[in-house]
Amino acid sequence: MTNINLDQTLVLIKPDALILSLTGYVLTQLSEFHTGLRIAGTKVVNVNRMLAEEHYAEHRGKVFYPSLLEYIMGKIHYPNVPSKRRVKAIVYQGPGAVEKIRGIAGPTNPHNARDQKPGCIRSLGTVIPLKNEKGEIIGERMDNLVHASATKEEAEREIKLWFRPNDIPPGIRVYATQQSDGHFYYKEDRIYTTYVAGSICVFAPGDIVWETDLQTLHAVQQNKPTPCSLHSVVAKYLINEKCEDD
Ligand code: AMP
Repeated sequence: MTNINLDQTLVLIKPDALILSLTGYVLTQLSEFHTGLRIAGTKVVNVNRMLAEEHYAEHRGKVFYPSLLEYIMGKIHYPNVPSKRRVKAIVYQGPGAVEKIRGIAGPTNPHNARDQKPGCIRSLGTVIPLKNEKGEIIGERMDNLVHASATKEEAEREIKLWFRPNDIPPGIRVYATQQSDGHFYYKEDRIYTTYVAGSICVFAPGDIVWETDLQTLHAVQQNKPTPCSLHSVVAKYLINEKCEDD
């Protein structure tokens, strides 16, 4: 079932917000009373490296990228307690969802947020200088408490990256789904249709999956161009499989 007229967006309550006990504050700011938006799906995620890399793929190669991954994986705020590393992922639905939530979150950089929009969520964030081995400042990391999708297209990519279709009730699912027509197992960047020792079963026959994910796995098997990356399909099936503690 698809419901393409519903706007939706992905919000992540990041580890800095969790360690500061700001979850309740963020949820209140984004509540239906204030925004007219409704929660369609939610999960607590111990973010694995594959998910972090896919989520921030557009920043790959930038000086702050390695630190950004450590941040979203919870390693900065919970260096010694892997079990506490988590992010709260939420899908919000309703008219103008992307713009409304971006407005309440505020500018990406917490310094700009304080200057330009005091009172927005990110005005409570902080900016951390990044240094090289010599102690020289080479950039900065923005600990800005929440992620909010930038566009409708980004919202689709991100929601399909973090959520399986069955994480969202069928009547309010927006993106096209299909039933898997076979078994698909993943191991070390390869897809198999029969079980291989150490592989994980991504799809079984009859599973409801994102249509673009199924298209991607078929294309991988046939060595054809894929609608999205193999890791963006697989990462969500590794969520909370084991604690990411490397
Ligand atoms: P965006 O993709 O613009 O939502 O950015 C994602 C995250 O990357 C932000 O929340 C920041 O934590 C970080 N970020 C983006 N741009 C920069 C930048 N120029 N310097 C440091 N961190 C950044």
